[in-house]
Amino acid sequence: MTAVGTEQEYAEPYLRGVLATAGLDVEYTRGEANTLYYNRDGREVGVLDFVGGYGSTLLGHSHPELIEYARELLAGQTPIHAQFSRHPYANRVAAQLNRILRRDLDSDENYYAIFANSGAEAIEAGMKHAELERFSRIAGLRAEIEASVAMARAAVEGGRARAEDIDALVAAVNEHNQALFDSTPLFLTPVGSFHGKLAGSVQLTYNPIYRTVFSALAAQARFVPINEPGALDEIVAAERRDLHDLEIADDQVRVVSRPFPVFCALVLEPILGEGGIHEVPVAFAKDVNRVAADLGIPVVIDEIQAGMGRTGAFLSSSHLGLRGDYYAMAKSLGGGIAKAAVLLVRESRYQRDFEMMHSSTFAKDSFSCLIAEKVLTMLEANDGEVYRTAARRGAELLNALRALQAEYPTVIAQVRGRGLMVGLEFANQAESPSQVLRELDGGGFFGYYVSGFLLREYDIRTFPTSSAVYTLRFEPSVHLDTSEIDRLITALREVCREIRDAGGTRLAAIA
Ligand code: PMP
Repeated sequence: MTAVGTEQEYAEPYLRGVLATAGLDVEYTRGEANTLYYNRDGREVGVLDFVGGYGSTLLGHSHPELIEYARELLAGQTPIHAQFSRHPYANRVAAQLNRILRRDLDSDENYYAIFANSGAEAIEAGMKHAELERFSRIAGLRAEIEASVAMARAAVEGGRARAEDIDALVAAVNEHNQALFDSTPLFLTPVGSFHGKLAGSVQLTYNPIYRTVFSALAAQARFVPINEPGALDEIVAAERRDLHDLEIADDQVRVVSRPFPVFCALVLEPILGEGGIHEVPVAFAKDVNRVAADLGIPVVIDEIQAGMGRTGAFLSSSHLGLRGDYYAMAKSLGGGIAKAAVLLVRESRYQRDFEMMHSSTFAKDSFSCLIAEKVLTMLEANDGEVYRTAARRGAELLNALRALQAEYPTVIAQVRGRGLMVGLEFANQAESPSQVLRELDGGGFFGYYVSGFLLREYDIRTFPTSSAVYTLRFEPSVHLDTSEIDRLITALREVCREIRDAGGTRLAAIA
């Protein structure tokens, strides 16, 4: 047994070691706008932050207006724990979101809100709601089939129809159908998706490292490649299952098939974030809306990372013409200081019983709702100035990274993204002549070593996307300015030189 002391790590004790391997185990003590600070040798060092709380700080760290408002709320004894009472602040957040969606979707349909505390939780609320929809559909089908089976039996018993052995036929139909009623549903989501790491949401997260161990815990997904036309239709066709029903034709009882709702929902990020910052092609978005309509299942749009203005529009899906039945939001909705998340469900699909089935102690509290309300007001202010700024600063960042790619075409494979959600993918080093680079590749942490180097040498914080380690993520706040972009480019140029001309030795050299 070790003595309890400050040196012993108790909070995920092994993660610190992993971070240390790449030189990333820094303790940040303060954050402001795009800068996180830590203390080095008694001096405060500012680190330029391109991770942005994994997409949570579109408005920057410690936004003064939000800090002041939070202070007022807490000093005013806002009732954080007043569950099961009226929550006008939650209603105002939902009303504001409805105003925004009506404008951006050019539709007058209502969306009802279910609140949550994290992105994964909002996704899981969506998974459950979609399953409740499916459950209701199955109950309807079941009742219809029971009625027609009873009718067929009565017709045979009354001599109005023939069947070789009606008891055996009914038993076979029931057995066949029961197996389908007992089966777990499937979700559809793109290859490369990231929708969270809880027991349900992790099934929709593509990365096998996060998912496969837990695949027995909950309903599974079928992963659809976004760049292969027809792939979605093929997967849907391959999973088709039919219920059996009885019908009478020419006085004869016969078995007919009726499609079974195998799928619960189609869930997707308009820009695959943790999968490497890949925007979904418009053709795929069209397929998604068409196939979901054919199957009668909801399209769940995960705006958790890309939404709330980061891409230059409140909904990142609006660039693709993609329409959702549900929308999940979190991260920047909390303004970098609250844990706010919400699931919006289109009125025509909304299951009122869900409200009695789903809740969380912490969700829909006054503090996070009031902060979210303030965030939405700030985003919408001056006719959407934040969106325009995100688009403009993002374009400048993207152009600067593309210019660097032109300088180092063998090192940088691709630069992509939209607004302040940008990815830079390095060329794969598996076949590099440098043993150091080959080893960094083999370890599976390539981007983390680049991140460690940028932090040590240039006081710049970025990480790879979590499921695509060759892609560095850049998700700064709207405060990003030209000098910060220049600082990033200078540092990345050194990384490129190091990779192309020096075999990556300094990337691996942890002090
Ligand atoms: N969806 C997306 C698109 C995400 O990027 C994330 C987090 N990276 C999540 C869901 C899960 O959110 P959380 O970490 O808040 O559970």
